[in-house]
Amino acid sequence: MTIERVGILAIQGDVAAHRRMLEGLGVQVLDVLCEQDLNAVDALVIPGGESTTIAKGIARLKLHEALRRRISDGMPVLGTCAGAILLASRVENHPVAVLGAMDVTAVRNAYGTQVDSFAAPVDDDAAPGLEDMRCVFIRAPQLTEPGPGVEVLARVDGRAVLMRERNVIAATFHPELTSDPRVHEMLLAMG
Ligand code: GLN
Repeated sequence: MTIERVGILAIQGDVAAHRRMLEGLGVQVLDVLCEQDLNAVDALVIPGGESTTIAKGIARLKLHEALRRRISDGMPVLGTCAGAILLASRVENHPVAVLGAMDVTAVRNAYGTQVDSFAAPVDDDAAPGLEDMRCVFIRAPQLTEPGPGVEVLARVDGRAVLMRERNVIAATFHPELTSDPRVHEMLLAMG
């Protein structure tokens, strides 16, 4: 399957920045706000923002089961920051209704309040192709306790920041806020 049309779950968060990045990579972009939208896309981005708000929107729009089904059927999905929290199977603090798409535990606001926003390069052991990627963190979570199917693709200061399990990619940072397209390209390459 070639990915031609990518949806962005457009309930709340930095939808516009993801749209710019994806359009720059030459794919069609559709805001997803109902099941019909979801069924019209080949891949999905769940943006950063506030995971509690996005989860409430998912419930209000009755999208929880449809999202779970499409992701478990193999639709490529990228969750960034709040989106990564929503893809997790467990949340250690500040409970939120997650989708359970990746076998990890999300720790919300894990970098604390003093350093709640910062940018840092990936560690030297990043997967091939991801060298020197600069990551922007905004009140970021950490993803811990990865299950056996979860591959850590990049770390910052030893903490996993980019992970993949089957068709699911989770980034605790904001690749859409830089001009580096490599994480979005990874999503498009899963088609
Ligand atoms: N702190 C937010 C949350 O827990 C995530 C922040 C973000 O997406 N930039 O939902």
